[in-house]
Amino acid sequence: MTSLDDLPLRNDLRGQRPYGAPQLRVPVALNVNENTHPIPEAVAHDIVAAVARAILTVNRYPDREFTTLRESLAGYLGHGLTADNIWAANGSNEVLQQILQAFGGPGRTLLGFVPTYSMYPILAAGTVTGWIAAERDADYEISPATAAEQVRSNAPDVVFLCSPNNPTGTPLSLETIESVYDATDAMVVVDEAYAEFAPDGTPSALTLLPGRERLIVSRTMSKAFAFAGVRLGYLAADPAVTDALRLVRLPYHLSALTQGAATAALAHADEMLAMVDDIRQQRDRLVIELKRLGYVPHRTASNFVLFGGVDDPKAVFEALLAEGILVRDPGIENHLRVSVGTKPETTAFLDALERLGTPQTGRPGPNRLEP
Ligand SMILES: *Cc1c(COP(=O)(O)O)cnc(C)c1O
Repeated sequence: MTSLDDLPLRNDLRGQRPYGAPQLRVPVALNVNENTHPIPEAVAHDIVAAVARAILTVNRYPDREFTTLRESLAGYLGHGLTADNIWAANGSNEVLQQILQAFGGPGRTLLGFVPTYSMYPILAAGTVTGWIAAERDADYEISPATAAEQVRSNAPDVVFLCSPNNPTGTPLSLETIESVYDATDAMVVVDEAYAEFAPDGTPSALTLLPGRERLIVSRTMSKAFAFAGVRLGYLAADPAVTDALRLVRLPYHLSALTQGAATAALAHADEMLAMVDDIRQQRDRLVIELKRLGYVPHRTASNFVLFGGVDDPKAVFEALLAEGILVRDPGIENHLRVSVGTKPETTAFLDALERLGTPQTGRPGPNRLEP
C-alpha cells in the first residue's frame, strides 16, 4: 500500500493530522459532548414518516434552497429572524468551512482564542487560511479589552468566538463580542453550539445581529437537540452573508432526507430539548462532586466540564477507559474534559473517579495508580 508521503499531496497538508476524537464502543461515552439521551420515540416516528415521504421523490434533486427547513430554523430561533437570515449545512463544521471558503482562503487569516475548538485550525488548514492563536485572560476568560487588543494587533479576516467555549466551557459576554466587532472589519462568527445549555435568561449573540452585517451566529442540532447523527448545523446572519455562502456551497448539499428529518424534528423542538434541564442538573452535580473529590472544575455554561488538578491526565484517561468510561484529554496540562451524561452515566463516571482516589499529593490518587 502507498503511504501519504508517496502521494502528490498539497505541501501545506503534509504532516497535518485529521480530527481524531476516538470512536470506541464503550458503555459510557462522555468524550464528544453529545446529548447522551436518545430522542423521544414518538418524535422518532414522526421523523421516520417525514423521511419516508422524502424518499418517494429522491429521483429528483432536493430543494437546493432548503426553504422549508430555513423557515423552520428561523421560527425556532425567533428574534425576528426570517428564512432570508438562515443558512444550513451538514453540521456546523460544514457551515464554518463554508464561511472560511467565502471569507478566508489563501493570504487571509482566521483568529481564535486558544484553547478553543480543535476543529478551527483544521478548517483553516483545509481552506488554506492562516491560523492565528490569540490568548485569553486568566481562567480562560476574555475581557472586552483583551479581545479588542488581540483583534486590532493581529488584523484577521475572520474571527471565531466560541460561546460557551469548547473545551473550557467558558461563556462569553455580549460586551466582549461587541468589542471584537467594533475593533475589526473582519467577519465575526459566534459559535453557539452549546447555547441551549446556558442558564435561563442568558442573552444570545442573536440579539446583536440587527445592524451588524459582519456578524454571524452559528448553531447546531448536534448537541442539545440530540441530533448529532443527522448532521445539521446552521447560522443566522444578514441575508448578504447567506448570498456569499451560496458562492461556495456544493449544489444540493443538504439531502432531501436531511431536510425532511430536521424539519420534522424542529416541529417537536420542545420534546427534543426536554432533557436539557436534566443535563444542566447533572452538569451542576459534576461541578460540585469534582470539587469534593479535590479536582478543579472550571466555570461552564455547556454540557461538559473541564477540570484541572489531574496530575497525570493520560493515566486517569486510561484508568477510566479500563472501566468502560471514555472522557476527553484535550491536551491542556493537568486537565481532562467530561461530557455530561444521563444520571446513571454521570454516577458511573464519578464513582470510577472516586475509586481512583483523591488527587491530593501524599495519598493514592490519579497520579499514582497502583495496580
Ligand atoms: C460540537 C461542536 C460543534 C458542532 O459540530 P457539528 O458539525 O454541528 O456536529 C460546533 N462547534 C463547537 C465548538 C462544537 O463543540
